[in-house]
Amino acid sequence: MNKPNFSFEFFPTKTDDGVTKLCQTFDTLNELSPAYFSVTYGAGGTTRQRTIGIVETLHNRANTPIAPHISCIGDDKSVIGELLEHYKSIGINRIVALRGDLPSGQVGMGELPFAVDLVRFIREHTGDHFHIEVAAYPEMHPQARSFDADIQNLINKFQAGANSAITQFFYNAESYLYLRDALEKRGIDTTEHRLIAGIMPIINSSNLIRFADSCGADIPRYIRKQLADYGDDSKSIREFGFEVVHRLCEILIAEGVPALHFYSMNRVEPNKRLVESLGLTSHSTQA
Ligand code: FAD
Repeated sequence: MNKPNFSFEFFPTKTDDGVTKLCQTFDTLNELSPAYFSVTYGAGGTTRQRTIGIVETLHNRANTPIAPHISCIGDDKSVIGELLEHYKSIGINRIVALRGDLPSGQVGMGELPFAVDLVRFIREHTGDHFHIEVAAYPEMHPQARSFDADIQNLINKFQAGANSAITQFFYNAESYLYLRDALEKRGIDTTEHRLIAGIMPIINSSNLIRFADSCGADIPRYIRKQLADYGDDSKSIREFGFEVVHRLCEILIAEGVPALHFYSMNRVEPNKRLVESLGLTSHSTQA
C-alpha cells in the first residue's frame, strides 16, 4: 500500500519567544521529512507582517518548502499583488489560497470576494510560478447555499488554476470519501487535483469543540461524549485523541488518501507520534 505524503500547518506566533519555540518545533518536525510546512494568515491582513516574518525565517532555516496562506477577503488587489511578488522574489513557490473570514467590525469584501477570484488573480499575475492549494469542505462550508453549490465552488477553484485542495478537518472518514467520489463523478481527476485530508489532532476538549462549532466541522457524538467524560483529565484526552485520529488516518490511508495535512497547533506532539506510528516517514517525496 502506498503511504501518503504529509505536511504540517503552523500559525504565526506573537512574540520573539514564540518564534524561537516555533523554530524548535519546526526543526523537530522537519526531521520527519514532511513535504512542506504551511503558515496561516489572518484575514483582512491582521497577521500579514507576522506571517511574512515566520515564512522568511523558516524558509531560510531549511530546504523544506514553506507554503504561506493568503486570504483575499477585505484586501486590495495591490496588497495581494505585492505579497505575491515578495514571496516569488524570495523563492517561495507554493501558496494556500483562501477567502478568509472578515474580522469582526470590518465591512466590505474587497476586490477579490471569493477564493476563486484569488486563484484567478494569482494565475493572471504570476502564471504557473506557484503551486496553489485551496480549501475543501467534506462537511460543507457553513455559508454554502447547498452541498452541490459547495462542490461546484471547489471545482471552479480547480478550473481557475488551483492544483489541489486541503480539507477542513473531519473525524468521519466517510465524509472525505464522499467528497472525493463526488468530485470524480463530476469529472474531476483526483489524482491530478488531489484532495489532501486535513487532520486535526485532539489535544484539548473545549478549544476543539469551540473551533469545530465555529467552522462547521462535526465532532461525532461518541467523541464529544468521551471528551465530556474525561473532564479536566488532559492525559486521558490526549490518549483517546491519539487513538481516534490514528484510526481515522489508518482508514484514509487504506482508502488511498494522497496526502495528510496536520493542523499542528505549533506543537511537536501528538503530530510526531502520529506520523511515526503511521509509518509515514520512510519517504520524503514532494506532495
Ligand atoms: P471560498 O472558496 O471563497 O468559499 C467561501 C464560501 O462562499 C463557501 O460557502 C462557498 O460555497 C461560497 N461561495 C463561493 N463563491 C460564491 C459565489 N460566487 N457566490 C456565493 N457564494 C459563493 N482562514 C484564514 O483566515 N486564514 C488562514 O490561513 C486559513 N487557512 C485555512 C486552511 C484550510 C486548509 C482551510 C480548510 C481553511 C482555512 N481558513 C483560513 C478558513 C477559511 O478562510 C474559511 O473557511 C472561509 O470561510 C472560507 O474560505 P474559502 O477559501 O473556502 O472560501
